[in-house]
Amino acid sequence: MIDFSLSPAIEKNRDMIHAVADGTMRPISREYDEREHEKPTEWLNMMWEASKNLISFGDGKKKASGKAEAVERHLSERTVRSAVLIEELSWGDVGLYLSIPHSALGGAAVAAAGTPEQKERFLSRFRDGEPKWGAMAITEPGCGSDSAALTTTAVQDGDQWVINGTKIFCTSGLMAAEKSEGFVVVWATVDKSAGRAGIKAFVVEHHTPGMTVAKVEDKMGIRASDTAMLVFEDCRIPLDNVLGQAEVKQSTTGFKGVMATFDATRPLVAASALGVARAAVDYVRETFAAEGITIRYVTPQTKLTTLERDFMDMEANLQAARLLTWRAAWMLDQGIQNNLEASMAKAKAGSMVTQVTQKAVELLGPLGYSRKTLLEKWMRDAKISDIYEGTQQINLLIIARRILGYSSQELN
Ligand SMILES: Cc1cc2nc3c(=O)[nH]c(=O)nc-3n(C[C@H](O)[C@H](O)[C@H](O)COP(=O)(O)OP(=O)(O)OC[C@H]3O[C@@H](n4cnc5c(N)ncnc54)[C@H](O)[C@@H]3O)c2cc1C
Repeated sequence: MIDFSLSPAIEKNRDMIHAVADGTMRPISREYDEREHEKPTEWLNMMWEASKNLISFGDGKKKASGKAEAVERHLSERTVRSAVLIEELSWGDVGLYLSIPHSALGGAAVAAAGTPEQKERFLSRFRDGEPKWGAMAITEPGCGSDSAALTTTAVQDGDQWVINGTKIFCTSGLMAAEKSEGFVVVWATVDKSAGRAGIKAFVVEHHTPGMTVAKVEDKMGIRASDTAMLVFEDCRIPLDNVLGQAEVKQSTTGFKGVMATFDATRPLVAASALGVARAAVDYVRETFAAEGITIRYVTPQTKLTTLERDFMDMEANLQAARLLTWRAAWMLDQGIQNNLEASMAKAKAGSMVTQVTQKAVELLGPLGYSRKTLLEKWMRDAKISDIYEGTQQINLLIIARRILGYSSQELN
C-alpha cells in the first residue's frame, strides 16, 4: 500500500511552525535581507528553543527494535518531519531559517560518519544549553564539485592532528567557529598520494587556536545566513576528533562515510527549496485571486489561458519535487540506501525553485520585480538550492552513474 499522508504529530508541528514563519519570520524578512551581516539575536535565541527539538535527521541505519512505540515512530519519521518543518521555515524566510542555531551540516556529518561515542560527544550538546551552530567546510579556492581534489592537510603529531588549509563558502562558519560554542567539520587529506582514500572529516571545536574567520561573503541571496572563509594554520585538534575510526585512515571507509553526509542533507536542502517555491506560488495565487483571476483546473488544455497553464505548471513542478523529497527523506528514516533518491530530490527541487520563482516574477510583472514585495527576494534566495550540497550538474551526474551502473572514474 502507498500512503502519502503525514502523521498527526507532524501535521501539528507543521501548523505550529507555519504560524511562527508567518507571524515572526515574514515581518523581518526584508529587513535582514538588507542588513546582511546583522543577526536578529533575540529571534534566533527564541527559535533555538523551538528548533533543537524539531530539526533532526536519520543516520541511514536501521533502528533497533524493541523501543517504546512512540519513540520508534518518532525516530522512524524524523527526516520526513524535518523536511516538512524546513519547508515551513523556508516559506517564512530561507536565510533566517539557515541562521537558526542548530547542528546543521556539521551535525549531519557527525551523524553520518561519526562513531557512537563521537555522536554522543558532539551532538548531545545540541540538546541542551546555549544556542550552538554546526558547519561543514569542504569547498576550497581550488576545489568545489570535485571534493577529492581538496588540498587541506591533516598531519598526525603525537596525540593531535595538525590542520592546514583554506576553506571558503562555509555556511554558518562565522557562528560555528567564533560566535558560539559550535564546531566545524573540516574535510582534509591525511595522504595526498592516496587520493580519495586519504580524505577524512575532522571536528574542529569553536575558538580552537589556528582557526580564523578570514572573511564573511556578501551574497545575492540567503543574505541573513553567514557564509565564511576559514583559514587553518597549524590548527591542533585531539586525535579522536577524526570522524569514524582513526585506524582506518588508509581505507576508503572514511571517504564513503563523509560522502554519506549528503544522503542526509540533500533531501533537507530540497525541502528548503520547496518552501521558497511555495512562498512564490502562494503569493501569485493570492494576487490573482485579489484581481479576480481564477485558475480553471477542470478546463481542457486547449481552452486554458497561458497564464493558467503557467500557474498549473508551477504547482505541478512543486508537487513533483515534494514527492521526491519526501521519498528520499522517508528512505533515510527507514535505513534504506537513498543515494540516488537524495540526488533526484535535490536536482529536481533545485531546478524547480529556480524556475518557479522566476516565473512568479514574470507573471506579476512590475509587482514581481519591485522590492515592495518579497518575490524578487525569493528569486534571489532560490538559486543557492541549485548550487550548494552538489550543483544541479553534479547531482544529475550522480543519478546517471547510479542508473547506468558507472563508477565516478568511468563517468565524470
Ligand atoms: C551561499 C553558499 C553557501 C555554501 N555553503 C557551503 C558549506 O557550508 N560548505 C561547503 O563546503 N561549501 C559550501 N558552498 C560551496 C558550494 O558547495 C560549491 O560552490 C559547489 O559545490 C560548487 O563548487 P565550486 O563553486 O567550486 O564550482 P565548480 O565545482 O568549479 O563548478 C563550476 C560549474 O561547473 C559545473 N561542473 C563542475 N564539475 C562538473 C562535471 N563533472 N560535469 C558537469 N558540470 C560540472 C558545476 O555544476 C558548476 O556549474 C557554499 C556556496 C555558496 C554560494
